[in-house]
Amino acid sequence: MAVLLDGRALGQGIVEGLAPRVAALPRPPGLAVVLVGADPASVIYVRLKARMARTLGLVHRQVDLPQTASEAEVLATVDALNADPAIDGILVQLPLPAQIRREPVLDRVDPAKDVDGFHPENAGLLAQGRPRFVPCTPRGILALFDHHRVPLSGRRAVVVGRSPIVGRPVAALLDQRNATVTVCHTRTADLEAEVRRAAVLVVAVGRPGVVPGAWVRPGAAVVDAGTNRLSDGRVVGDIAPDPALEAAGWLTPVPGGVGPMTIAMLMTSTVESAERRLA
Ligand code: NAP
Repeated sequence: MAVLLDGRALGQGIVEGLAPRVAALPRPPGLAVVLVGADPASVIYVRLKARMARTLGLVHRQVDLPQTASEAEVLATVDALNADPAIDGILVQLPLPAQIRREPVLDRVDPAKDVDGFHPENAGLLAQGRPRFVPCTPRGILALFDHHRVPLSGRRAVVVGRSPIVGRPVAALLDQRNATVTVCHTRTADLEAEVRRAAVLVVAVGRPGVVPGAWVRPGAAVVDAGTNRLSDGRVVGDIAPDPALEAAGWLTPVPGGVGPMTIAMLMTSTVESAERRLA
């Protein structure tokens, strides 16, 4: 049986470990979340983040803008949060409505408050191997590997998906741990052959079943970052269930794997940001 990479348990432990660091600061760390519109999944994610931030004793501010908000309004909101000394972390919930371009908004976040790690300065630092803010989902995936002592150095790692949010930063982090990394995407000629060679497999696509479980190599460490809500309300990953998955070495559940780790890492990055800014 594969060892379960349980993100709920590890995430909870990580958040509990932050409490004394929060208590040691002269003021609570502040996290601001900007939500534009009311995308149902975004509303749920934002609520989970708010609940965790409050549990931990952070100052949590949510700015709700209407679906019809202009790009200028979103930029003005970000500017105000950049200037607010009580705020250490700013997160703009994605996706944004179609009339708002993602890049100018993410580029406007003060890189010193960019707890999502999406600003080009932070992405560049990560690419150069001297990370400051690392995107939360990739950081959570590495924390799962580390906690379970999954060997990475010298191993063949395959990342399916190359978004700046999950796939690309995961690939950079695995490379920095001396894995030999292959990144797959829509133009990959033979996805099955790539996946079958993976000792470490991370799938972050957003399509249920894009990787059949039967492709997974026995003994592999497998992370399914996919979060797909089906019409019956169930949440499933990107890897199709298959008895072959039982032969994996390590495996994330969906839900309960990567999702809770993402939130725990957001809390960690916010506390780190406050520690840096108050030092
Ligand atoms: P994204 O921006 O849509 O990127 C998807 C990537 O998958 C792209 O690089 C795309 O390739 C690739 N892809 C699409 N179809 C493919 C196929 N048939 N074969 C191979 N590659 C394919 O998605 P994302 O933001 O990275 O999110 C990916 C998944 O992770 C989603 O399910 C999302 O909900 C989940 N997620 C979960 C969390 C969490 O906290 N649990 C956080 C973030 C994301 P191209 O580049 O060629 O288009």
